[in-house]
Amino acid sequence: MDNNKKTYTCLNCGETFSAPKWECADGRRHVVEAKTYYSASSSWRTYVAEERLITLGDTGRVRVIPARSVQFTRGSFTTGDPEDQFALDQEPSMISADRWKELYLSTDERNKMKERELKAWEERLVLQQNSLLDKVKQQQEANAQPGADVPTIPPAARTSGARSGAPRQA
Ligand SMILES: [Zn+2]
Repeated sequence: MDNNKKTYTCLNCGETFSAPKWECADGRRHVVEAKTYYSASSSWRTYVAEERLITLGDTGRVRVIPARSVQFTRGSFTTGDPEDQFALDQEPSMISADRWKELYLSTDERNKMKERELKAWEERLVLQQNSLLDKVKQQQEANAQPGADVPTIPPAARTSGARSGAPRQA
């Protein structure tokens, strides 16, 4: 994909733009959805923008925009700056999040992370099932005719049913 044609949408001003227009109309820097980059070298540092000169309006005065660099910490760097992302998206030494986990996290940390992900997933599942049960219940109440034999959901099903199939905690 041609990176120069890649478009970004600013979270501040809503403008859709592409390189090298990194500023909002008011002169502040565009801000995009943050993205995390990973490096095999722990405190990797790289330039994301070269020094450049801009001419100010009709005055003819020239201003120097200094070069910018970014600094990784423990092999990772998160940024919502589109110019940073533009440079890092083209950086061949970047590694995947999974590779980063292998390199930087101990087995114990990886297991804990996995556990947290599973727990969050389990909680989402319980929420989904409960809201589904609520809908079914509402439907049943709406449809219920006096004297009609409508099966009801026993309260126990809300928790025991939701948890079946969930991984057991060690
Ligand atoms: Zn903007």
